[in-house]
Amino acid sequence: SNPVEVSCVDVLIVGAGPAGLMLANWMSRTGIKTRIVDKRGTKIFNGQADGLQSRTLEIFDSFGFAYRAWQESNHMLEMCLWNPDDNGLIQRTDRLIDTIQNLSRFQQAVLHQGRIERFFLDSIAEHSKIRVERLVIPETLELDESKVALDNEYPIRISLRHLAEDPAPAQSGVENGLFRSNITEDDTEGILETSKAKEDRTEIVNAKYLIGCDGAHSWVRKQLGDDFALVGEATDYVWGVLDIIPITDFPDIRTRCAIHSQESGSMMIIPRENKLTRLYIQLKEVSTGGRIDRSTISPATILKGAQKVLAPYKIEYKYCDWWTVYQIGQRVGKGFSKHDRIFLAGDAVHTHSPKAGQGMNVSMQDTYNLGWKIAQVVKGEADRSILQTYEAERRKVARDLIDFDHKFSRLFSGKPAKDILDTEGISLAEFKKAFADGNMFTSGVGVKYSGSQIVAVSDEDHPSDKADNEVTSKGQFASKVVLGMRMPSFKVLNQSDARPWHLQERLKSDGRWRILIFAGNIKRSTQLARVNKLGKQLASPTSFLSRFRPVGKPIDSVIEVLSIHSSPRTDCTIFDFPDIFHPYNDEVGWDYWKIFVDDESYHEGHGEAYKNYGIDVETGCAIIVRPDQYVSWIGAVDDYQQMDSFFSRFMKVQS
Ligand code: FAD
Repeated sequence: SNPVEVSCVDVLIVGAGPAGLMLANWMSRTGIKTRIVDKRGTKIFNGQADGLQSRTLEIFDSFGFAYRAWQESNHMLEMCLWNPDDNGLIQRTDRLIDTIQNLSRFQQAVLHQGRIERFFLDSIAEHSKIRVERLVIPETLELDESKVALDNEYPIRISLRHLAEDPAPAQSGVENGLFRSNITEDDTEGILETSKAKEDRTEIVNAKYLIGCDGAHSWVRKQLGDDFALVGEATDYVWGVLDIIPITDFPDIRTRCAIHSQESGSMMIIPRENKLTRLYIQLKEVSTGGRIDRSTISPATILKGAQKVLAPYKIEYKYCDWWTVYQIGQRVGKGFSKHDRIFLAGDAVHTHSPKAGQGMNVSMQDTYNLGWKIAQVVKGEADRSILQTYEAERRKVARDLIDFDHKFSRLFSGKPAKDILDTEGISLAEFKKAFADGNMFTSGVGVKYSGSQIVAVSDEDHPSDKADNEVTSKGQFASKVVLGMRMPSFKVLNQSDARPWHLQERLKSDGRWRILIFAGNIKRSTQLARVNKLGKQLASPTSFLSRFRPVGKPIDSVIEVLSIHSSPRTDCTIFDFPDIFHPYNDEVGWDYWKIFVDDESYHEGHGEAYKNYGIDVETGCAIIVRPDQYVSWIGAVDDYQQMDSFFSRFMKVQS
């Protein structure tokens, strides 16, 4: 037989769904040697997840492709609730706003998963040589524990089998989502068995890091043993999903609706792109007694369910794009990482119902959290210990999601309360309250990471006998910015050219940390003196900016200083600020894209950033923001010492 190829790679990603692609996308921006493999021969073309949270769109924007999703998607602006009236007929009982106002620049939107995968694939190809290697399936995995603590070692050894042909069933006519559904048995073992007979090619890969983004049946998770099992429960709720162009007299078909019928269960309507509408229908016939009889399920059964819920309105279709059936299980993995060398992300570590539109979002946000950390460690910029924050931060999000889903699924699946004494049923008031409370959560903006090496603890939560160099965040300097949450966004103007920008647009996902210097009113001499003193400290050859900068790289290559002042724009120029705030480069001169101002724009009003962040316009403050836009530390504008101590906790001195 042929000699087996052996190669080395920094990062190996198994699975090219939303979680794997988000990770590959980070790697494409940070230049890390990466491979990504998937057992399927093609990406997704129809159906599956479709909800895009506000936060996910912000993240897409930080990578430069939100506009594609925003243009193609359907935007979710209102939600209608339908419930039975006294005669048992459904009627509209409420009309609610879909996304809380001013929570984000983006409202929730819907677009099928295949398009999201397309945007990632294009973005990855544009920025790197990384390509998804399809029809590749891992076969064996070994982790050499003696090497896990050594930065430059390759402790992971994995064999990859290259398949000769696509194991997925050929799709003909209407896309049938059942073969990927969680009610269908996992096919991994079968693929390995049959492909062995065909003697497909095998190779050995040594990797520094392995990330299992291989979905709910995760092979990587199974290799890690019982300590990594998913724990939780499957429910009896079975939901059918139908993507159709509806022909109907139901008046709210282009509005997101939650419909509770008197006796025929409930249903959700999600108006989608390209005239499509998604119907989520609870399937009562197949949902009793645990196991599902697959032969009873077809688009016709699902449609029949929908017709019953919607009666007396009528619904039919000529075009069906995709359909599937889904059993709601709510499970979280016991562990998310082994020795911070092998990680699990996305559906591989948490599963839950699809209706709150969370699955794809939370999965992508897992690897959005992880990607920059791995990149900084592989590059030798940060200590390996920052990788521990992945499990700490994302496991909590997954648990919160399951708790939320418990409540939410019950609300959708339960029958409506007939009266206040009906404890089994769901009252309209209860539903409305849960929906409003859940909005912060479902937008994705509500995520808050706890104190760690990379999120300072709050001054208030800290005992007074702390050591002098202890890093603590002083929230009073920016009373409306929340430590551990993503930096909110308001419009500011470029000092040099007056162009308005949402501040978040300047916080690109390029792997850099940022210090936002809210310089305050520099027309006051005392304030200018503070800012100048900070500038001098930052510019010193022993400053943290210099110490952590990779040799030969620009001063802003790992930590970027952006400033936003509050003096009138026309009274200042960038030369009123220390040089380090607008660094000079021999080739292109001064950097005009680092100093911003909170002032009235010519065409887009006043962003009132200081007011909205709760920052004093005279004295300002400083905020450290992670490469993923989460707030790490808030303090006085001239508290150089704390900034230095913060970065010194995990960044590596480069010499
Ligand atoms: P996946 O998207 O599952 O991606 C995993 C990838 O890994 C796949 O490409 C797979 O081929 C690959 N893979 C798996 N095993 C291996 C292996 N051994 N070797 C190599 N590659 C492997 N969410 C909603 O919000 N709304 C919905 O209506 C909805 N419907 C869904 C319907 C179905 C049938 C499924 C399966 C999921 C649905 N979801 C829905 C959930 C949503 O699609 C997931 O939450 C989301 O895709 C998770 O992303 P992921 O990258 O973690 O996993």
